[in-house]
Amino acid sequence: MASPTHRLRLASTTLEGLDGARQRAVEAELQALIPALEQADLNLAHPVDLHVVITNSMEQHVDRIRKQHGAIDAAPYARTRLTVSATGITLVAPNRPPLSCHVILAVDAWAASDVESLVLRNYLLCHELGHVLQHGQGRGIDCRQRSSSNEEEMLRTAKIIREEFDADSTADALCRLMLRDDQGKALGPGHLLAPQFAAASLDILTNLCDFALEVQRYREIGTDELLDRLYRNAGPLLGETALLLTHTIALYLSARDLAPLSEQLAKSPGFKCYIEPDWNDFLEDLVSKDEGAAERRISEFLGNVLYRLGLRIEDRPGQAPYIHVHKPIFCDT
Ligand SMILES: [Zn+2]
Repeated sequence: MASPTHRLRLASTTLEGLDGARQRAVEAELQALIPALEQADLNLAHPVDLHVVITNSMEQHVDRIRKQHGAIDAAPYARTRLTVSATGITLVAPNRPPLSCHVILAVDAWAASDVESLVLRNYLLCHELGHVLQHGQGRGIDCRQRSSSNEEEMLRTAKIIREEFDADSTADALCRLMLRDDQGKALGPGHLLAPQFAAASLDILTNLCDFALEVQRYREIGTDELLDRLYRNAGPLLGETALLLTHTIALYLSARDLAPLSEQLAKSPGFKCYIEPDWNDFLEDLVSKDEGAAERRISEFLGNVLYRLGLRIEDRPGQAPYIHVHKPIFCDT
């Protein structure tokens, strides 16, 4: 017999930046969401109160909610992100039950009524709901924890990558409950959204080639300032690249076909030089059930990419890390 599961309740909606007619349409879409979610086995460890904010001033709402609730777990929250989290943020208040989750989304995809925008907003909202479920099921990352070494930071990034993939898998399942194609068949977000994510991935992969050239420049002119900049930029570049590839993989899997992605990536020098040697392992580690081992391997993968870019970072307890620099692999562009 299925154990009783807790309820997810749409506790409040805040809609800003929409005209009257769009606002009513979006309100109706959101109210239809909860009955749709009840068809899914949410398996919640706590009752969840969901607050949805759709706005053109995300940061203002993030600050307001943080002030109102004191310390808050955020699933993953980074203002600098280029990827999905730049358009959606989930904040989880620490006091429970009920678990109070705030999903804040950029208004753009809600303002238009075309099919692509409909699919995009369902994907963005359901992706954030994926994070709500991670916390509702007691398995979300506590983003208040800080890493004390580079090794820890790589592992943390690996955890976030797996969490993002998981949120995308939830988004795919939930979108299929809500979206239908012309023939009335369940529609995942991948068919319409995968190509634009692939294009963004190809762009970010060229940044890896540029980074390798910068490492080489350091080897020639050797200023401390340049090394410091390389060190500060390495983590965000690796994290962004891996996250964007993760969302892209999830969307191609949602469209049930990775082949078009592989074909495009094969033409990218940045992919061939820095990512491809670990690509198949990375695909396996995203879906692996052995969480700890998969996270360790993903963090090693990030270290391998950095190594191919010409850097190796050595943690030294009580001291600044030592940055080893060697000849990077160069892309033939
Ligand atoms: Zn996310």
